[in-house]
Amino acid sequence: MLHLYNTLTHKLEEFKPITDKKVGLYTCGPTVYHYAHIGNLRSYIFEDILKRVLQYNDYEVNHVMNITDVGHLTDDGDNGEDKMEKGSKREGKTAWEIAEFYTQAFQKNLKELNIESPTTWCKATDNIPEQIELVQTLIDKGFTYETSDGIYFDTTKFPAYGEMANLQNQELEAGSRVEIGEKKNSHDFALWKFSKPEEKRQMEWEAFGRMGFPGWHIECSAMSSKYLGQHFDIHCGGIDHIPVHHTNEIAQSEAAFGEHPWVNYWMHNEFIVLKNNEKMGKSNDNFTTLQKLKEQGIDPLAYRFFLLQTNYRKQLCFSFEALEAAQTGLENLRSKILKLKNESKKIDTTKLQEKFLEKINNDLDMPGSLALIFDALKNEEIDYETILQFDKVLGLDLDKVKEKKVEVSDDIQKLINERQKARENKNWSESDRLRDVIKALGYTLEDTAEGQKVDKI
Ligand code: AMP
Ligand code: ZN
Repeated sequence: MLHLYNTLTHKLEEFKPITDKKVGLYTCGPTVYHYAHIGNLRSYIFEDILKRVLQYNDYEVNHVMNITDVGHLTDDGDNGEDKMEKGSKREGKTAWEIAEFYTQAFQKNLKELNIESPTTWCKATDNIPEQIELVQTLIDKGFTYETSDGIYFDTTKFPAYGEMANLQNQELEAGSRVEIGEKKNSHDFALWKFSKPEEKRQMEWEAFGRMGFPGWHIECSAMSSKYLGQHFDIHCGGIDHIPVHHTNEIAQSEAAFGEHPWVNYWMHNEFIVLKNNEKMGKSNDNFTTLQKLKEQGIDPLAYRFFLLQTNYRKQLCFSFEALEAAQTGLENLRSKILKLKNESKKIDTTKLQEKFLEKINNDLDMPGSLALIFDALKNEEIDYETILQFDKVLGLDLDKVKEKKVEVSDDIQKLINERQKARENKNWSESDRLRDVIKALGYTLEDTAEGQKVDKI
């Protein structure tokens, strides 16, 4: 039985799909105005593990991920500049070029981290009519009001507003301090924004009698319902989405679709933080990208391995030293796997497979699963086949682990060839002597069925 922590109910729950053996999964994608940082990538690795665990349990997963290429403002609320326009000014390119460039960079990151592609990618700018239609439904149902800068959702018309984030208690306090301008209540949010008359936006559309653009939240409700229907199983993102983005998505979707609950399970990953407990953020200028890690000799899969060592619901402090240790750990795992592959021994792992399933089905317990695997390796209770089966969830590409080809100088190669001849002539004392000479020069030799295997000491 699969149990997942549901942010909506604040409980670990047994997962029950709406349709037998099928899962509709929506994961909020990146805002493509800059490179994704490794904190963002934690979200996508967590979601990939979730998807792989569902597939391991024989569910067919219909996974939709959006690309936010318009409407996400710099303050995550209804003020500030559109992040895409900001990226455009920063780089002297059009907002469309920025979106295309960073979408490709993001998809390259996913490949490098061995994250499976979603079933459907969807861009906010490709789904403008769907968003306009949803706003119109909310207008028709009486959930909105207009100000001079946009069409807003009136949160007082939706009594369950903020339940997932426990916002009710903060409402009065926040309302008394926050500058709300023309908004009626502090939590009301923009569904559609009007372009400012003095400003020519690059991305704008005609709707509701003038030029404008969608608010950030409406895209996810419009696109998830388009591809997954008006009631689906799981919706994910980072924890920062709980109080604003996801809370607003729930309000507008349940108001429009009349379905309660709109989504059955909400799942959120904790942050990557830095040593001073500061959140890694694109706008904080304190971020590291996968590309930067690669330039420092880190294998992207070592970052994946680093994340698997901590539960997705725990904050994780990033340091380069910790990541280097993870890379050594992954190398170590790979060499153990090569050994298993060469031995080609078969072991009855029925019990181990049951334990593994128990771990992954306990809210994606990856640290527990890894501990199980390392113990089994130590006690020689696992074979190559089983580890590859477990890797369907871990996604560490363990089936692609290859012998490292060690480069040697011509002189050393000559000695290795001489030793080969000595062995063919069964001259064991000469063979041992040459092995010592080669060792003194910094290389070990292992005699395998395929011949001598060289390694650097
Ligand atoms: P964005 O591109 O800003 O919309 O963010 C993409 C995803 O990354 C969202 O699910 C965020 O919640 C998540 N996220 C942002 N910062 C961090 C962080 N420091 N650690 C983990 N996840 C993060
Ligand atoms: Zn979203």
